[in-house]
Amino acid sequence: MTDLRDRAYAERLDEQYELASFRERFYVQPGTYYMDGNSLGLLSRDAEAAVLNALDEWKTLGINGWMAGSPPWLTLGEELGRRQAALVGAEPDEVVATGSITTNIHALVASFYEPAGERRKIVATSLDFPSDIYALQAHVRLHGGDPARDLILVPSRDGRTIAEDDVIEAMGPDVALVIMPSVLYRSGQLLDIERLTAAARERGIPLGWDCAHSAGSIPHHFSDWGVDFAVWCNYKYLNSGPGSVGSLYVNRRHFDRLPALPGWWGYQRERQFDMLFDFKAASGAAGWQISTIGVLGAAPLIGSLDLFDEVGIERVRGKSLALTGYLMDLMNARGMLGPETGLAIGTPTEPDRRGGHVAVEHPEATRIVHALKARGVMPDFRPPDVIRLAPIPFYTSFVDVYETVRHLHEIIERGEYREFTEGRDLVA
Ligand SMILES: *Cc1c(COP(=O)(O)O)cnc(C)c1O
Repeated sequence: MTDLRDRAYAERLDEQYELASFRERFYVQPGTYYMDGNSLGLLSRDAEAAVLNALDEWKTLGINGWMAGSPPWLTLGEELGRRQAALVGAEPDEVVATGSITTNIHALVASFYEPAGERRKIVATSLDFPSDIYALQAHVRLHGGDPARDLILVPSRDGRTIAEDDVIEAMGPDVALVIMPSVLYRSGQLLDIERLTAAARERGIPLGWDCAHSAGSIPHHFSDWGVDFAVWCNYKYLNSGPGSVGSLYVNRRHFDRLPALPGWWGYQRERQFDMLFDFKAASGAAGWQISTIGVLGAAPLIGSLDLFDEVGIERVRGKSLALTGYLMDLMNARGMLGPETGLAIGTPTEPDRRGGHVAVEHPEATRIVHALKARGVMPDFRPPDVIRLAPIPFYTSFVDVYETVRHLHEIIERGEYREFTEGRDLVA
């Protein structure tokens, strides 16, 4: 038996675990340990080929690409939505690729936030990603409300996680909408989507999910759970490139709801070019599109989804849990956690309560991140003290995790981080 702490143990895991061959399909830079796929997934050869194809079609087809592209650009948003439906447990016309997380939150909150009488409040969490909060504050203001009063941010009991009980507690008769992150961007806590969705539905409150940190990492069952709506980006776990198109989901029981921020890209496709002034929404999630899809930004997703088609999200999740579980076990086994080193893990350890990354906390996190980068490890930093490490099932090996942990341990043991200045880069 090799010891968990040995490199040979990681090598054995790489031999035993599936998906190892997919690493060849990605551009993994030699000598680096890329642990930031939760912020920006790496480029696959499949995504690259899809971009080159889109460029070639633009070159050769010009305007005809809207109809003759493969797939036709005109309905690319719908096509990519159909192809993502299985990832989130939706029906094909309930998902569309369009916009970005924040613009899609604006479009959907505009449609689902209908304050009336005493029911005026929006519930979110105190650990949310700021962009989501800016959007919610704006919608409260647009309806004449005061964010300080009408936006309830469920507090955290421990600074890391949000208790589902507290969210349900906040769903009072004065609440018109709830917006929740599926996985907290900092600690990596996975909320119980099914339970919270059921609780909101019992109270007649629509609940939208920001799945930035779960789409492409964790299986979802939106239809079975009765989720109202959801948004996510495709540049994190879905590996479709910086600023790539986002996606949104609308449950079909809401298909008769009018998109409140309409644009011609959400018009009934057959009549879009009739150029009429009375807005007729396309049926399904497609109606929430606003503007012309950015074909070059969306193209990588065409190739990236081929990988998910081949593997299936359940297997992606299985390996993700194995990689992150190993990461935490190894830190434990090496005795790296505790007051002596100052290192702690901020992510819940239970598999059904965590997403695809591990939050490692240390008061000197910014300097440690600089030291890790100098050694070829690519993590990211989230204030005040979190180093996020995300081993990605498609392209991160167990040996990569071993090396990441070893480098981190050496940096702490030798105090190497003291050689680096405090403070973070503009993009951390
Ligand atoms: C990454 C992320 C965003 C980013 O929003 P964009 O509009 O795509 O730039 C928003 N919310 C959460 C929770 C995120 O993790």
